[in-house]
Amino acid sequence: MQVSLRDIRKSFGAIEVVKGLDLDVGDGEFLVLLGPSGCGKTTALRMIAGLETASAGRIYLGDQDVTDVLPKYRDIAMVFQSYALYPHMTVEDNIGYPLYLRKVDKEERARAIREVAGKVDLLDYLDRYPRQLSGGQRQRVALARAMIRRPSLFLMDEPLSNLDAKLRGHMRTELKHLQNELGVTTIYVTHDQIEAMTLAHRVAIMKAGELQQLAPPREIYNDPANLFVAGFIGSPPMNFIEGKIAGGSFRAEGAALSCPGFSDHGKVVAGVRAEDLRVVEAGAGEFKGTTYAIELTGNETLVTCQVGESLVIVKMDKDYDEKIGTAVGIALANEQIFFFDAGSGTRLR
Ligand code: ATP
Repeated sequence: MQVSLRDIRKSFGAIEVVKGLDLDVGDGEFLVLLGPSGCGKTTALRMIAGLETASAGRIYLGDQDVTDVLPKYRDIAMVFQSYALYPHMTVEDNIGYPLYLRKVDKEERARAIREVAGKVDLLDYLDRYPRQLSGGQRQRVALARAMIRRPSLFLMDEPLSNLDAKLRGHMRTELKHLQNELGVTTIYVTHDQIEAMTLAHRVAIMKAGELQQLAPPREIYNDPANLFVAGFIGSPPMNFIEGKIAGGSFRAEGAALSCPGFSDHGKVVAGVRAEDLRVVEAGAGEFKGTTYAIELTGNETLVTCQVGESLVIVKMDKDYDEKIGTAVGIALANEQIFFFDAGSGTRLR
């Protein structure tokens, strides 16, 4: 089902926390709302569900304007971070509960429960109670309970955030697999950039109630719209160096590189990712630095260098080693460098 938001706004008292959101989610699309804590993503999701009324704007599910429609008539299933399972009911009854409410007969219900329980690998746990399950299993029960209704739209609010790191990675893979199998339109809220990048067809990045960029993950990574998006996506975070552009070159303390086509600009931030740089010998490369820390992470080495006042991280292969405090050069490995206005954060082209 298609979802459209038209200039959706929400204020709590005098504070506007969602500031005019326009969004079209395609049928079968997995859209991730990504942003730091407090940016308004949960509020946006709750308005789509009908759990919160919009202060202004319209919400459409398919062709229907549902702005004033009660949640129970919206054909939406929501999965929360706190799985909200019924502790006194078995896994089987928890999963089947939406069908029980709809008065689906017992046999048909049992069949449907087995079908979805199979999909999320819970067939061996149907007789257990939530307290007898691991966090990942509870999360799967919550998913199965959402799936059994065959909703036209899934809304998920940080569904993996209560799991430990390893389980989280595993459940992420399972979700990705399920999404491919079910093909149900999904809007997923998270502040985890890896979840956003791996799960989404498109990512909507929000900051302080406003949409910053809406694009497929690859485009967000390769072509960030502004300084905020560039700094939010990527690990380690993109390196930022403050300087200025004059006469077709970018200059900062310890840095000089040509940037033909860019007009003179007083306060500029240059952004370049660790994997787009190389440590070279002193005197070579576009940046002049001193090694500050060297960290072997397993399959690669993160080399942090002091360049003027900034620390710049370079990804080298696992065999790279050097003493801390060594003078080095840093070279651009390719043309992937971005320039932003230091004040507004707008990307310069
Ligand atoms: P998080 O990831 O921390 O959940 P979020 O991006 O989902 O953050 P929201 O939960 O949408 O953010 O909250 C956005 C802002 O609105 C926050 O500043 C929050 O304090 C405020 N807010 C949310 N609900 C209410 C409410 N019922 N009354 C007053 N303020 C609220």
